Formats: sequence, structure tokens, C-alpha cells
Amino acid sequence: MSQQIPVERISDLEFIRPPEIAEPDCRRSSELRRLNLNESLQPPSPNAISAMTEALASAESYPDHSCAALAALLASRTGISADRISFGNGSGELLSQAATLAMEVGDEAVFPVPTFPVCIKGVHIAGGKVIEVPVDSDGVNNVDAMLEAVTPKTRLFYLCTPNNPTGGAIGAPGLLKAIEKVPDDCLLLIDEAYHEFAKAEGSPEVLSLLKARNGPWAVTRSFSKAYCLAGMRVGYAITSSNKLCQAFWKLRGNFNVNRVALAGAVAAMKDEAYLQSTLKTLIHQRNRLAEGLQNLGFEIFPSQANFLTVKTPRKASALASHLAKYGLLVQSMPWPGGFGSLRVTIGDAHDVDQLLRHLGEILTG
Ligand SMILES: *Cc1c(COP(=O)(O)O)cnc(C)c1O
Repeated sequence: MSQQIPVERISDLEFIRPPEIAEPDCRRSSELRRLNLNESLQPPSPNAISAMTEALASAESYPDHSCAALAALLASRTGISADRISFGNGSGELLSQAATLAMEVGDEAVFPVPTFPVCIKGVHIAGGKVIEVPVDSDGVNNVDAMLEAVTPKTRLFYLCTPNNPTGGAIGAPGLLKAIEKVPDDCLLLIDEAYHEFAKAEGSPEVLSLLKARNGPWAVTRSFSKAYCLAGMRVGYAITSSNKLCQAFWKLRGNFNVNRVALAGAVAAMKDEAYLQSTLKTLIHQRNRLAEGLQNLGFEIFPSQANFLTVKTPRKASALASHLAKYGLLVQSMPWPGGFGSLRVTIGDAHDVDQLLRHLGEILTG
């Protein structure tokens, strides 16, 4: 019998892809407020913009595949040597690589649900089996229940802290339990796309807790969120050993981090003042939004990220459609049952005012 092309596990893949907003002229629409993608609603640091502008003038030339400048900067900030850091076209690419390098066909991977779906897609590509464990009532990964789901076939254990789409970060006791109890033949993968926000609010330092782990681990982070560079696509993975890091590197496409992105990431990281002001504004607006939504009868999931998820007192999809009429795009979800929930990216003061105004209209009008 002839081989089916594409092979079954690839043709069976679901089309999981980000919400699409067409940009026929390659420009962001000025009418839409995209509060549905957890990207930044403010531009990158002016220093990053000038570094990227300068890099554009060398666009004819391939970038530095080793990402040496960024690697050195990250090594000095984290205390982890540069030979344990790999780079991706966004951290999503690294999440998929983690499944590829850790799993054989038929192996198992444990995930919280709901969570960010990119690594799950990687497991399907690898031919692995996804074991889903509901988050706790605060929307935080339920580490105890996830550990109970581990079997001798588990090769990947994925934590997302703060978790997308709920917003809550795992406390130090939960992290330590995972660090100690996830078996040594299983990759502990910690997705810290919202690291900078969580750190600003005193969440545990995942990297220092990981010193207690004997087995393999990787932490992924992104320039898409706190550094306001989602359009540039840069992420990195910090790994437990040079050997594991090399496996990530082997899976990299050639020159997967482009020259402009690299220049932007380095300059953004060096502009600590801009990062701090981004974080401060964001936390302030998130608190305003949380308070306003609570007053309107929404139930808040605690968030240490750049978005807020709330259980809605009316059908979530209807509320999202109402907001869309005013150009405010938010993400509605059927989870966790009932009327579902809305995930709202934190924008500026005006966005928060508009959200509260238009939700108030429909709920009290
Ligand atoms: C946004 C996000 C990412 C990845 O983003 P990249 O733009 O690919 O770096 C990864 N994980 C989570 C949980 C996210 O929310």
C-alpha cells in the first residue's frame, strides 16, 4: 500500500492559528484597538526603534545566527552561560521544538487546560499524546493534579506561568514541587512569556528555583509582550545544559532571528527605564480595569500578566460582539462554562474607559 501524503498525524492536525486581522497595506489599522492578542498597545522603546532603523540599512546581509550580542546580554542578566541559551522566531517556535526534541511517537505530555496551545500543537506534530489537567479555581496551573497525571510514558511537563489565557502565576511551593517531582527522564518546560510582568509584582524567580532540579528543564521567554516587539518575532529558551541547548539549536531554521529583530531586542533590553515605565503603566491600568469590571458584575481571575480574564455575567461572545462594534477587539471563550469568559489585553487609559463604558451600556442599559 502506498504511503499517505501528508502522513495521518499531520493531516489530522487542527488549524490552530492566531486570530487574523488582515493588513492589506502591511500597516496596523488605526481604527481597531486590538485587545485580543496580548500584544503591547504602545510602541517599542525609542532606542529599539532607532537600532532597528539602523539595522534596516544592512537588510541585504544575513543576520548573526549565533545572536551573540543578545546571548551575551541575556547571560549577564541571568547568570546562565550563553551556551545554554537558544533563540527562536518568537518563543512559540521554541515551544514546538521542545516537543520535537523530547518526544517519540506515543509518548505523553502533561498540560494545564486552558493554556497557550502552541506547545500542544508541537506534541501532535511529534505524534505524542496530550494529557490535560484543569487549572485551579484561580486559573493557576494545578501542579499537584498535573503531577498525578505523570506516567512512565511522560516525557514533557509544560507549565505556563503566568498562564495564558487566565493570567495567574504559580507560587514558589508549586514550582518547587514540579522542579523536584517531575521525573528526571521528563523535560520540565516552563513558559514564561509574561516573565517581566510577573517579576514586577514579586512572583518567584523561576530560574533560581530551578537550581534544585536534577532532571532536564527549559524556560522560554519572549520579546513580544513586555518589550513591545511582537511584530519582530524574537524569543529565547534558557536550558539546563549545553547538551539540551544544542538540541534546540539543531532544530533551528537557518537565520531564524532576523537582523532587525535582533537589533531591536538588544536595544529594548538595554532600555531598562522604558521597560519599567511600561510595566508601571500596565499594572495601573489593569487594576483600574479589574475594579471597574468587578463593579459591573464580572468575576476576576487574578492576573500577573498584560491581560485580564473575567467570567462574564452575560454570554461572553455577545459582549465581545458588542465591543467590536466600537472597534474594541477582545477574546471571548466558552471556558469555564456558564456564560464563558473574556480575555482582555490591557491598553491605555482611554481603552480602559471605553471598555468599561460600552460594557456598562449593555449590562445596565
Ligand atoms: C504570547 C505567548 C507566547 C509567545 O509568543 P511569541 O510571540 O511567539 O514569543 C508564548 N507563550 C505564551 C503563554 C504566550 O502568551
